Amino acid sequence: MGISEEQAFWKFCEFRWEMGDKQACPDCGEINNHYFKRQRMQFTCRGCYRQFSPTSGTILHKRKLKYHLILDLILTFVTAQKGIAALHVANNLGINPKTVSVLFGKFREMFIYQADVSFMSGNIEIDGGWFCGMKRNPARKIEVDPKVKARIIEENLKTGKTFVPKHKTSMKTIRNRKKKRLVFVIRKTVKGKGAGQTLTFVARSESEPEVKKIVSRLVARGSTIQTDEAPCYGWLSAFYDHKTVVHSKEYVSAEGYNENQAESFFSRMRRNVVGVTHGMRPTYCTDYSYEMVWREEVRRKTNKEKMQDIFTKIGKHGTSVWWRGYWQGHKRGCELTIDDLFGIWDAVGI
Ligand SMILES: [Zn+2]
Repeated sequence: MGISEEQAFWKFCEFRWEMGDKQACPDCGEINNHYFKRQRMQFTCRGCYRQFSPTSGTILHKRKLKYHLILDLILTFVTAQKGIAALHVANNLGINPKTVSVLFGKFREMFIYQADVSFMSGNIEIDGGWFCGMKRNPARKIEVDPKVKARIIEENLKTGKTFVPKHKTSMKTIRNRKKKRLVFVIRKTVKGKGAGQTLTFVARSESEPEVKKIVSRLVARGSTIQTDEAPCYGWLSAFYDHKTVVHSKEYVSAEGYNENQAESFFSRMRRNVVGVTHGMRPTYCTDYSYEMVWREEVRRKTNKEKMQDIFTKIGKHGTSVWWRGYWQGHKRGCELTIDDLFGIWDAVGI
């Protein structure tokens, strides 16, 4: 960004507190023009005499990275429309890729904890998309027996199809199939404004119990729900105004019902997989999906507003739950199921 460390420090304070020359003490909460120690770049509270900095008690607590580098890092993060690789940022800024990766992990944690989980009503779209567990082709094509080939060509001539020798399914593909995960997206749409509130859930299959868990907790009875023709949505018509789009025939039904906003979310997430992450592990699938949820939410804001949004979330979140102690070997190491997510939101009282 080309600013000095002290300028970056004051910029940090401006974003964190938005109160001009006043700061709020994270210990006693006193809002005042606290004593400033330039050498240590810290404030001393006028009320409780404790020392604090703009990162105290947030996900950046005990940070070692310089303020101007953190600002650069956040700016790069918010300007990337489909996410950005930690290695890319690390090389640009000349810092350790793991540092960037951990910080991005903390941002994703913050997006999950502060997701908008208010009760939905009105027009809602639900859809599922498969992620993780990529298909791999084997190193070479399998030679097809000439007799079998001749027979298939003969059949093809009758039916009018073209012969394509098939790959044998590789062991890697078989192992990867276990890693496939279904990402459910549920979006509220407002006419003329596109999609609003968005939430995602990761499950192992597109099944009825999963959909019931999500819909019964989040959607008001009598709302209009638009889905595709998958059987797991069949029960919805008993309690909701259920509209179906038969994807094998149409993308928009004759009455104008569609799933475009849900597909739009998957479009961004697939761009992230294709262009940035090159495939994600099931453990962090939920985390990545919530990064995309945030990017969808702030898609119409300016970079400054996006940075302000990140700082507001940093101020609210407190120290990291999953990434604190990462450098000492503490990792979350488990996937976040639908129940886990609802458990988190119940615990933080949203
Ligand atoms: Zn204080």
